[in-house]
Parts: sequence; structure tokens; C-alpha cells
Amino acid sequence: MINRIRKLDKSVSNKIAAGEVVERPASVVKELLENSIDANSTSVVIEIRDAGKSYIRVSDNGRGIHKEDMYLAFERHATSKIYSDAEIYDIKSLGFRGEALASIASVSNIEIITKTADDEYGIRAELVGGEIISNNSIGCPDGTTIVVKDLFYNTPARHKFLKSNSTEMNYINTIVNNIALSHPEISFRYIVNNKNIFTTQGNDDLYSTIYTIYGKDISKNLIKINHEKEEMKIKGFVSNISCTRGNRQLQIYFVNGRYVKNKVITRAIDEAYGTLMPRNRFPICFLYLDIPSNKVDVNIHPAKTEIRFRDERRISEFILNSIKEKLLSSDLIPNINIGN
Ligand code: ADP
Ligand code: MG
Repeated sequence: MINRIRKLDKSVSNKIAAGEVVERPASVVKELLENSIDANSTSVVIEIRDAGKSYIRVSDNGRGIHKEDMYLAFERHATSKIYSDAEIYDIKSLGFRGEALASIASVSNIEIITKTADDEYGIRAELVGGEIISNNSIGCPDGTTIVVKDLFYNTPARHKFLKSNSTEMNYINTIVNNIALSHPEISFRYIVNNKNIFTTQGNDDLYSTIYTIYGKDISKNLIKINHEKEEMKIKGFVSNISCTRGNRQLQIYFVNGRYVKNKVITRAIDEAYGTLMPRNRFPICFLYLDIPSNKVDVNIHPAKTEIRFRDERRISEFILNSIKEKLLSSDLIPNINIGN
């Protein structure tokens, strides 16, 4: 017997797509926060309960969603961020696939309140498993609040794979910290189980943002980096050799505002410290790279933490030299010869 081909139901295909975008509560937090950033928000509140399994709220004071676009926002491949394929190669926003809200909505229950500056009233809608079940006008400030409840309530297999609250919280903390670090010009207030964790000032000062999130012990051991060559820029902080870690968790770097993992960058950092670092110890760093966006390919992985550089060697040398130069001239490690 020949199995005939059928097109999948929207709700089925959304759930399948959700498997890629929404792995765990932290992925929801990431997508919501990226949307708030793309909406030009200056102030964002993140509230988590029950490790995000039953409650995630992100409220922003950004652009809001136009009333008539509310339905589209939860459709797959619907985005306000790119309009043509040419733009895929020169992405400036964090989102662009138009998949996140549709995916999240298909595996949770959502409440959304949003208002643009042009509208007198906002709109509040509730969605169950991706379907809008209520929708009304409401008085509210400009911006968007999205509450994601009961994640994976309708996909028991995924729900079962959620880890313990403390593990899921670790993932969420990493995302929130990294996003707050990547946008020191935005104030992030982070609340977990009704407790205030931190509020960054949003004053565009990297150092005070790092201090707010990681505290004094780390902040006092940082060396400032600020270097520019041709059209590449690097700024941020690296730790002196008395402040190291047993893993790379606090090697945090951003390329064009995007938190990424990248071997070229990791290797350049290693090489910059060379033999200064004892075996199996790693420096802490918070680095911000600006590379012309047409020299970076972000479109290689849906989770978008991977990137590829078009000219790896040039970028690697730039990073290595910028850090090494600063380490060599830093008083904190006088007269030590770094590698050859
Ligand atoms: P993408 O971010 O890839 O465009 P999403 O599914 O995350 O796709 O969001 C779909 C659309 O909904 C966005 O393009 C944007 O227009 C709108 N949107 C989502 N979140 C917000 C927000 N916090 N503020 C304003 N608009 C938003
Ligand atoms: Mg998005």
C-alpha cells in the first residue's frame, strides 16, 4: 500500500517546529527577551516562577504590536524584521525567523498585553495551545507583556524531559545574565519566585552592569579592553591572572550584540593568556565585538548561538592582540613574558 502525502495540520507543524526553538523554559526566556530588545525597549522586567515551568513573564516598554498584527505575531514565518531575502545576509535584529512566538504558543498557554504609542488603548489576548481564545481592549502603558504559562502542557514527552528546578534555573540565569550584559543600555529587572535578583541600571555602563550581576569579587579583578582596528572593534573586560575559574562558564562574549559560542574566539582568548594561565584554569571575560555584519554569518543554526566568520584569521589575530597587549601593559602582572 502506498502512503499518500498530506500536508500537516498547522498545530502539528507548529509543535514540530517548537521542538527546535523551545527546548526548555530558558529558550522561552531568550526568545521573549530578544523580542523586547528588538522592540527598542529601555526597560524590561523578567519574572520567573517554578523554574519557568509554569510561569514566565516578560514585560517591556518597547514599540508594542499593532492591533491588527496580533494574529500574525503568533503565525509561523510572520515577522516585522525582514521583508526580503537580501536582508538575511545583513541581519541587524536578534530575531528574524518569525518562529518564536508561534512555537512557544503552540506548547503553552499565553497571555499577552500590548500597546503601541499610536494607540489610545492596548489589547489583551489569551491563547491556548496557539489559538487566540479571547481578545479585548484594555488600558495599559506602551509596550508588551507576555506571560507564558504551563509550558509543554500539551506535549507530555517534552514535559517529562524537563530537568530539576535548580537545573532549569541555571539555564535561565545564564540567559538572563547574558542578555542583561549584552545590553547595558537597557534596564533589566529580574525577579525569581517573588524575590528581586537584580536590576541593572540601564545607564550603558558595562562595568556597573557587570558589578550589579556578578558582584565585587569579580569586578575588582577586571582589566579593561578597548581596541579598534580597521572596521573591527573590541571592548569589555578580562580578568587578571589572580581571578580564574575551573571552566569557561564566565567567558562571555558578544558579537554585534549577540551572545555566541565560537571556537575562534575561545582559542584567541586562550592564546592571549598563553602560559600565564595555569593548567585547567580559565580567565573570566566579558567581551563585546563589533564586526561588520556582512562578515558574520548568523544564519547557520536555529538557536543562533553559533556564528561563522568570513575571515577567521584576521578576527582571531585581532582578538588575541587586543587582549595580549592589555595584559602585557597591565600592572597586575608585571614583567611576565606571555608566550612567544
Ligand atoms: P521574530 O522575532 O523572528 O520576528 P517572533 O515570533 O519572535 O519572530 O515575533 C513575531 C513578531 O511579533 C515580531 O517580528 C514582532 O513584530 C512582534 N513582537 C514579538 N514580541 C514583541 C515585543 N516584545 N514587542 C514588540 N513586538 C513584538
Ligand atoms: Mg523573536
